Amino acid sequence: MKKEKCKEMVREEGHWGSFHQHRCSFNAKRDGYCGIHHPDAIEKRNKKSDEAFKKRMERDPLMISRKRIKYLEELLKKHNIEFF
Ligand SMILES: [Zn+2]
Repeated sequence: MKKEKCKEMVREEGHWGSFHQHRCSFNAKRDGYCGIHHPDAIEKRNKKSDEAFKKRMERDPLMISRKRIKYLEELLKKHNIEFF
């Protein structure tokens, strides 16, 4: 059986900041795509980075501060406390 190449076009930086496209050089594994460029694999990777981003945001001090401020503002409002 002839080995088919992945059909994904890859953008590569050329000389002088120009871009050129070329076919992915990996052998196709499934549906004409290699393991990296198969839509399922791409979706999985996107999902993974989404989760990593969310986790990072949860730990972000600025985001934590904002959450606390929002919580305090709501608390003050609830008890009709004029703060400013
Ligand atoms: Zn590929």
